[in-house]
Amino acid sequence: NNNAQNMPIPQLPPNILASLRSNSTTGEVIRSHLSLVILGHVDAGKSTLTGRLLLSLNHVSQRLLQKYQKAATSIGKSSFALAWFTDEDDSERERGVTIDIGTKFAKTEKFDFTILDAPGHKDFIPNMISGTASADCGLLVVAATTGEFEAGFARGGDASYSGGQTREHIVLSRGLGVTQFVVAVNKLDAAEPAWCQERFEHIKSMVLDFLKQNGFKEARITFCPVSGLTGVNISNSDKVEDEDGWKALKKWYKGPTLLEALDGFSPAKRGYEKPLRAIVTDVSSEGKHVNVRGRVVQGFIQSGDNVVVLPVGDDANVVRVERGKAAQEGSSPYSFASPSPTTSSSTSNEAQLDGIALAGDTVELTLANIDSARLMTGCVICHPHPSLRPKVEQRFEARISIMERLAVPIIRGSSVLLHMHSIDVPAVLNKLVSSEKRGDGKPRQNPRVLTGGVTATVEITLSERLVIEESNECKALGRFVLRRGGDTIAVGLIDKVLS
Ligand code: GDP
Repeated sequence: NNNAQNMPIPQLPPNILASLRSNSTTGEVIRSHLSLVILGHVDAGKSTLTGRLLLSLNHVSQRLLQKYQKAATSIGKSSFALAWFTDEDDSERERGVTIDIGTKFAKTEKFDFTILDAPGHKDFIPNMISGTASADCGLLVVAATTGEFEAGFARGGDASYSGGQTREHIVLSRGLGVTQFVVAVNKLDAAEPAWCQERFEHIKSMVLDFLKQNGFKEARITFCPVSGLTGVNISNSDKVEDEDGWKALKKWYKGPTLLEALDGFSPAKRGYEKPLRAIVTDVSSEGKHVNVRGRVVQGFIQSGDNVVVLPVGDDANVVRVERGKAAQEGSSPYSFASPSPTTSSSTSNEAQLDGIALAGDTVELTLANIDSARLMTGCVICHPHPSLRPKVEQRFEARISIMERLAVPIIRGSSVLLHMHSIDVPAVLNKLVSSEKRGDGKPRQNPRVLTGGVTATVEITLSERLVIEESNECKALGRFVLRRGGDTIAVGLIDKVLS
């Protein structure tokens, strides 16, 4: 049908596009937004470092810190005060704002960051996958203390060996499309000796090697020695609790502070001009309306839009659109703008975006004329015209990269759990098309088994029809992770959706 083929993709007004594309630093542009996932082995210091960052950026007040320090000291864990900023607390519940676990907002000189705090524990890898799938960049935290780095960096992926999460997080984030990292070499205050350059260099070379093996480009990785606990090398403008440590570090370190390193990220490329795709992460109903939280991964959405929710296929009207915004100091570090018309904090350029959310934005939508029971986490919101919809299918061909170690080889017919953005579904590898040892360029056709460390082309059948797209069309809907028995076994890219 010609009509279906000719439907133009909705485009942003030229003035907004100009503000988004401008490289000017005069404040006349719409600020660049990056989703940053915090990764690393359990106890590496992720929460503490995130708390320190929020404090340094004035997103939490000294008063709140003092309150937490008092409370933490009274239970004999004074060092936990900073970490508490990143853990959901009672006051958030009192105010009734549901904050996605670990999601915070940080405004640096260059970027508006959404911070996704991925739990380090092995049991939480599925949460880590959904966080990482929506990330543009990563902050990998490794502990520099003796034995702790080694434990966190131990090989995993074999059921008989409980490995560290550092490697798995690196492999997963590369598989899910994260290409730039800041690596915080943390706890150097407690290294032996403290602030030891050799220790930093040793960890740097180990982690860098592994990152390069996994396809990261050295130019997109920055290593940064820090102490989240004492605040050393977070920002030049901070008052540091450990002056001696800072001096010791400055003797040999001339690189960026953590904040400077984060501002060194490249802005993400967004598909503003592509058809709308928004992934639902949370649903709640309110009278006749349904409130949906989610993330726009492609195109843009505005109030007044008519949309379709897939795979269910129900239509809805968008009556309200709010982008996630930075809140004021002392309040919750992450919130959605209140419906009141006070936009004093936003520049005139940001005001152009009232009622619009763009690719890369976290968004809260109010939908009308749809049954909330039909909407769930993992649904995809699109424009309803057939030519603007993604495919809803059950079978696809993919390139998968298998973990270094595999407890049981993969054979034709192997059952797995496929994780994609915020969902997981049972799936079967129904055909092994070809495989090759990573990087040797000699593919074997119709292999009988797939073992650790190989790259393979396979056909996968899902237990139900889902919104799936070729990864070069839409990263968020075309990348996935395969797990089996609680272990990650592969990361993959959809090459061809099959009907
Ligand atoms: P997470 O599990 O990665 O979030 O780690 P936490 O932030 O909860 O920290 C784990 C433990 O390491 C806590 O006892 C922290 O006080 C401690 N810690 C975190 N950062 C540092 C640091 O820079 N130096 C030292 N010495 N200890 C730290």
